[in-house]
Amino acid sequence: VKHHQIVIIGGGAGGIAVAASLLKRRPKLDIVIVEPRDEHFYQPGWTMVGAGVFNAPVTRRTMASVMPDGVSWIRQSATSFDPDNNAVMLEDGTAVEYTLLIVAPGIKLDWAQIKGLEETLGHNGVTSNYRYDLAPYTYELVSGLKEGRAIFTQPPMPIKCAGAPQKAMYLSCDVWRSAGVLPNIDVEFCNAGGVLFGVEAYVPVLMEYVDRYGIKLKLGSRLVAVDGPNQSATFETAEGTVTRQFDMLHVVPPQVAPDFIRESPLANAAGFVDVDDLTLRHNRYANIFALGDAGGMPNAKTAAAVRKQAPIVAVNALAVLDGAGPVSDYDGYGSCPLTVERGKVVLAEFGYGGKLLPSFPKWLIDGTRPRRLAWLLKTEVLPWVYWNGMLKGREWLVSPVRNHEA
Ligand code: FAD
Repeated sequence: VKHHQIVIIGGGAGGIAVAASLLKRRPKLDIVIVEPRDEHFYQPGWTMVGAGVFNAPVTRRTMASVMPDGVSWIRQSATSFDPDNNAVMLEDGTAVEYTLLIVAPGIKLDWAQIKGLEETLGHNGVTSNYRYDLAPYTYELVSGLKEGRAIFTQPPMPIKCAGAPQKAMYLSCDVWRSAGVLPNIDVEFCNAGGVLFGVEAYVPVLMEYVDRYGIKLKLGSRLVAVDGPNQSATFETAEGTVTRQFDMLHVVPPQVAPDFIRESPLANAAGFVDVDDLTLRHNRYANIFALGDAGGMPNAKTAAAVRKQAPIVAVNALAVLDGAGPVSDYDGYGSCPLTVERGKVVLAEFGYGGKLLPSFPKWLIDGTRPRRLAWLLKTEVLPWVYWNGMLKGREWLVSPVRNHEA
């Protein structure tokens, strides 16, 4: 059995960022990343692809190109954990052993929970910005629609980027508004949840856009089935089951912990990795950390959160490797740049308990109002920071870490 100092599960935003951050601090570390896919995606860009602002390929790079110099890559899926023996099992039946384990396999998109959905995705007006191959179809549908009904759905929490279902809707409405066809389109937002957005401070500004675009808000409406050929969608609501015809349907799939995490000793009751909210260290296994969407901490699941988590996991993991305890705390920061119209973004930034954590002074970017500068941040600055800051471990571009002692 191969042994490595640090084993990282997942080469997504979290896995690559934490590997890069570790190696910046200690270039000689023996790190292996377990990741089956040969492509890495900048998922926050998919909202922009769905709106015709980005071309899909700018959100995709080869996995080899984002692997930090000095890490080894095992191109396989992890299948199970044996934390008492410090081992991870791989799909080919072999195992790797570690001194320290960092778990970052993301969240599972559970398309199959919605009856009839998978077979009609990409056809019959049914789309989703949650898949690289489907985001361009969103824009194709939006640019082609001149009249009829467009339904946008949101599943129960937790989901990654809780604002993304609405972003898709606002940007579509803005396309229809500029084409002069918005009055002919019946737009519905069917959200399984009971509120428009989980952090109260952003609700008023979002309601302004709901009104401006004439969107019918259907809270407590959960999509359960889609009949593609007949273009009808079925929802569970407090009033019972409701079936609606559509011309376009943008679906955000239900999301759950990855099966191999849920079924492992690492999971909490909800199936996600059971880590301490502040140190991101496992609550029962002292040499295991998690970050990103697979973590059980109650932050907004975003790449912005990963940007703050990666350096914290790096310093805490190194402290543990050196025989000490964690030295730094995560404040729950997450961010959701709400693209309310082409050219303007409401930059929601908040931490645990919905505490507002703005990165900019109010006069520069007021996060509770639509701002042009925030659009520039979303379309130009953040993608650059992702590829060149976060995935490279360049902390001055990302988020300097404060230790407990400091
Ligand atoms: P991921 O980046 O998803 O990576 C997980 C990796 O683990 C993948 O490469 C996967 O192949 C690998 N993996 C899975 N299973 C295994 C296994 N068994 N073994 C080994 N490897 C495995 N965030 C923002 O900050 N701002 C936004 O505006 C924003 N918008 C978004 C819009 C959309 C449409 C979507 C889909 C997401 C958006 N996000 C946004 C969220 C952001 O992309 C995620 O929060 C972020 O990618 C989480 O990083 P992660 O490393 O946890 O997971």
